Amino acid sequence: MYAGDTIAAISTPPGRGGLGVVRLSGPLALEIAAVIFHIESRATLDVANRAQFGHVVDPATGEPIDEAILTYFKAPRSYTGEDVVEISCHGSPVILRRVLGIITARGARIAEPGEFTFRAFLNRRIDLAQAQAVRDCINAQTDYQARVATRQLEGALSGRLAPLKDALVEIIVHLESSVEFVEEVISPATLSALMDKLAQVIAGLQEIAASFAFGRLVKEGFDLAIVGRPNVGKSSVFNRLVGSERAIVTPLPGTTRDALYESTAIAGVPVRLIDTAGIRETTDVVERIGITRSRAAIAEADISLVVLDASEPFTDTDAQLLAHVSEAHRIIVINKIDLPRRLDAAWQRDKSNEAVSLSAMTGAGFKELTETIFTRLSGEAASERDDIMITDARQHAALQQGLEQLADARDLMLAGELEEIILLRLHSALHALGEITGETLTDDILGQVFSTFCIGK
Ligand code: GDP
Repeated sequence: MYAGDTIAAISTPPGRGGLGVVRLSGPLALEIAAVIFHIESRATLDVANRAQFGHVVDPATGEPIDEAILTYFKAPRSYTGEDVVEISCHGSPVILRRVLGIITARGARIAEPGEFTFRAFLNRRIDLAQAQAVRDCINAQTDYQARVATRQLEGALSGRLAPLKDALVEIIVHLESSVEFVEEVISPATLSALMDKLAQVIAGLQEIAASFAFGRLVKEGFDLAIVGRPNVGKSSVFNRLVGSERAIVTPLPGTTRDALYESTAIAGVPVRLIDTAGIRETTDVVERIGITRSRAAIAEADISLVVLDASEPFTDTDAQLLAHVSEAHRIIVINKIDLPRRLDAAWQRDKSNEAVSLSAMTGAGFKELTETIFTRLSGEAASERDDIMITDARQHAALQQGLEQLADARDLMLAGELEEIILLRLHSALHALGEITGETLTDDILGQVFSTFCIGK
């Protein structure tokens, strides 16, 4: 993919807007800019990092196309590490296409999706984890997603991995030298120090890997079912729950199953509500069907809110529903606390039943519910490991692979195996970890990562 030629693209989204940006990167960027952009003043274009006012002109006809601002970023201190020129025109698709047209006529090629970021990666302006963070930033649909991506973009993950990789390299160097110089037999004390170090590396990596449980949900969303008898207030609870969040504009992945889904966000985490509509009728038979549907929803959901009605006695149906969701996957919600209480203590027969009390009518208790959902998803330690959240399946797979190799290496060390055998595992682990930040790579991985970018990035 990397040809070192000059690429160009419209970097702003399709459609009309106040401004639209055409971006150029590569050795011809400045030369092309000089031909198509006329500045009034006596200044020259090649002053780096300064916005300059002028006109984009069709060099074939001399016809002005638009008033614009041009900024030149000189290699290597630019986004891509190459000469970069950004031209801010008026945000008209017609104008932007014409500008792009005269640029490509002068020898630039239209950029592939993600190619600017790809060049930034190849020129070591950013590592692969940061490149993925650029994409996640652009794709973020909630504030929380954007925050996690921004931290990643700043290099939080790479920064956290670096000392662990350094420690691994130290272990490798130690073992290598004892292989090299046969007389340097590793003493039991040194071996035990190496084992300790290895254990620390493993623990550090495990902690990062564990963040994926929540990171995956932050990126891909989670499935939430709201179940309960007819009229306990399921719809009202849902509406309240999501009312404060801006609805998600594009559908979340994986919405092809039978049930109906509605996408929104809770505490900045995308959520698919599994619709249990239809559980409204009150006759016994239909209620049973309702429960069957609820069970299906419960089976699919990461979390089920089991709604009880505070203004009515506890029923068998309530008990059955509660019995069907494991504690780890449910949050009991007692709704309608604004009404006189008629819910008896029967629901608390099981000591482990803890509930959030609220009213969908008044909004009381919803802050606590949102927090409870968030904590359940993230685990208690979420705030402490906010800075290193793995949200990407590829990164997680590489971490797991590294961890497996390290566990093998540890077992082999314990068993007193030959250094050469242990070293094989350690090198494999290092290789796997290198795939996260992109030091060790295959074309396959690069294709996978950059094919998911949009044009102009
Ligand atoms: P669903 O069948 O479980 O989805 O229940 P709905 O959300 O349709 O609510 C059933 C009825 O209970 C409606 O008339 C709601 O207005 C009412 N309701 C829901 N939540 C509350 C609440 O917190 N307090 C009171 N007083 N009424 C509620």
